[in-house]
Parts: sequence; structure tokens; C-alpha cells
Amino acid sequence: MSDYTSKIALVTGGTRGIGKACAAALAKAGFRVAICGRDAERASAVANELATSGVEVRGFGCDVANGDAVEGLVKSVNETMGNIGVLVNNAGITRDGLLMRMKEDDWDAVLNTDLKSAFYCSRAVCRDMIKQRWGRIINISSIIGLRGQAGQTNYAAAKAGLIGFTKALARELASRNVTVNCVAPGYIETDMTAVFTEVMKKNIIHQIPLGRSGTPDEVAGLVRFLASEEASYITGAIIPVDGGIAM
Ligand code: NDP
Repeated sequence: MSDYTSKIALVTGGTRGIGKACAAALAKAGFRVAICGRDAERASAVANELATSGVEVRGFGCDVANGDAVEGLVKSVNETMGNIGVLVNNAGITRDGLLMRMKEDDWDAVLNTDLKSAFYCSRAVCRDMIKQRWGRIINISSIIGLRGQAGQTNYAAAKAGLIGFTKALARELASRNVTVNCVAPGYIETDMTAVFTEVMKKNIIHQIPLGRSGTPDEVAGLVRFLASEEASYITGAIIPVDGGIAM
């Protein structure tokens, strides 16, 4: 077993759902973990909950759609915990609607939170990763970025953008032993999908070969693996965790 106690992982949107499960899995593997959400108090409360087994987990308030806020976040993590070795770009929102009625605000909010945030966060941490000659950047995309979905042009554009971003950055950082990979979850039960009606859920599940929705822990297991030494020869990969729906 590798010892990750000197490594710091930052999970954006770690207060709920997939991000919280990723933070818990990384902490369990021995990483020291920083999580962020828009509200500092909530992030700290979740961090305290995750830190119960004696591992260091700290919560920070940061709107990842704001470049200055991200610079401040990374500075705070560096000062309180040390240099970041693992970045999980997980924070995301949806603002669904048909394109012909979509407001520019809804387009911008989704692109800024789901895609531009990955640019801000990755730019802020990659210099230290390069210096350390070790780093892991893991982007949480979606099968919607691979397949598209009516009513989600903004979300699909952001998630497809993350896939291109992953491949380009993987090529930029490979020679420095920094891997960049992308996880593409399918239908995972979280607050984000809790808004689906029963009919919608039934329709989606009908299309999933494994015949059920996934859990945040099933995504977190892959994220923990991609952060580990065992994943040292994987970069630029787009890996679905979707019960087979995208095949
Ligand atoms: P949730 O809605 O359950 O959680 C979203 C997380 O993102 C929260 O922790 C929230 O924190 C954080 N967040 C949202 N906006 C911001 C912001 N501007 N700055 C900082 N943090 C922010 O979503 P999921 O767990 O379901 O989704 C996590 C990721 O997985 C997203 O990128 C999503 O697109 C992706 N995904 C989810 C799927 C699913 O079926 N659930 C499928 C495919 C991909 P807070 O509210 O505290 O600010």
C-alpha cells in the first residue's frame, strides 16, 4: 500500500453528492483532503464530518466560477495544508431548458461553473505539480458530454469541453509526470438528479444495461484509483461510470 499522507487532494464541490464521496474515498486512502463549496460554513461542517477517522479534511468557501476566488482558495490551501498534488474538478450545476428559450445567464452560469472552473483550478495548481514532478488532475465530465441531451445544450457543451480540455492538458503535462483524466458518470443518485420525475427515472433506467442508477461511491472508487500510484500509466483517458449506457 502506498503512503499518501504527504499528498494533498483538493475536491471542488465536495459538500454533497459525488464530490463528497470522492473526498471521503481519498481521505480513506490516506490523502489529506481539502473540499470547497460556495458556503464556507457548510464546507467546514462537511469537512469535520469526513475528518472523524483522524485524517485531515478541511473545508473552504469558494465560488469556482470566479477566477480570483479560485486563486484565493489555492493560496489558502497551500498556506494551511501545503501544495496540492491531486485536483478533482467536480463542482457542477445544471440550468436546463430548450435552446430557443435559453437565457444567456443560464448558458454562462453552466459554462463558467462546469468548464471554466476547471481552467481556473488546473491553472492555479499545475505549476506546483510540475515542480513536484507528480500530480493528478481528474475532471468530472458526464455521458451527456459524449452523447448530448435535449434540453441540456449548455451542460453538454461544458461537459464535452471538459473532455477536450482533459486531452489537451494531458499532452501538456505528461512529460512532468502529471496525469490528467476524465470520469464520465451516467445517472447517479444525488441532489442534482433528485429533481427527475419518476417517469424520467424509469425512462433512463430502462436504457441502462445494468438496469439501475449508480451511487456516488461507485464514481468515487474510480477517482480514488486515478489518484493512486496504481494509475501512474493512465493519462488523457475518458472513463465512463454509467452502467453501460454510453457503449
Ligand atoms: P450535486 O448537485 O449533488 O453537488 C454539486 C456540488 O457542486 C456541491 O458540492 C456544490 O456545493 C458544488 N458547487 C456547485 N456550484 C459551485 C460553485 N460555483 N463553486 C463551488 N462549488 C460549487 O451534484 P452531483 O454530485 O450530482 O454532481 C457532481 C459532478 O458530477 C458535477 O460536475 C456533475 O455535473 C457531474 N455529474 C453528475 C451526474 C449525476 O447523475 N448526478 C452525472 C454526470 C456527471 P455547494 O452547493 O455547497 O456550493
